[in-house]
Amino acid sequence: MGFFQDLLHTSRVKSPWLIHFDCGSCNGCDIEVLACLTPVYDVERFGILNIGNPKHADILVVSGTVNPRNAKALKNIYDQMPDPKAVIAIGACGTSGGVFREAYNVLGGIDKVIPVDVYVPGCPSKPEAIIDGVVLALEKLKKRRPEKDTEPLVADLKKAREFYENREDRQVTR
Ligand code: SF4
Repeated sequence: MGFFQDLLHTSRVKSPWLIHFDCGSCNGCDIEVLACLTPVYDVERFGILNIGNPKHADILVVSGTVNPRNAKALKNIYDQMPDPKAVIAIGACGTSGGVFREAYNVLGGIDKVIPVDVYVPGCPSKPEAIIDGVVLALEKLKKRRPEKDTEPLVADLKKAREFYENREDRQVTR
């Protein structure tokens, strides 16, 4: 593992970007996920960002139950995320289907469609439990380092370093 791979991996683990998908929840769990961003919990101070683009996300946070319609959207979001990635299922609905698991149109929890790394219980899950879930997901993320996926990024970083080192007005020398 080279310097740039290490740098990229450390950046991802130290400042993970999250994407939240409401997979048909009652909004109880969604409110608790958003509470993590309020000044009371303020997860951004740890470098954790809530973003809207799955192509930039390291961790997928999902609340609600899966049904035949939203299953496709869930899989689509998951497939767009770059490796390494981790998934957190939030609440009784996300982990198992919860009180709706016997409903005619409910397939069950998130793991019926995509692999789940962390299950956060509760109805709704407390913000403290959600933050704990993110910490556990980071532990999983730490162990996943596919070198191949980072090769284009590493090549760009190397080019940028060469460009910088060859600049005549460069101030810093090693
Ligand atoms: S677990 Fe409870 S609060 Fe969360 S989405 Fe399901 S019913 Fe709503």
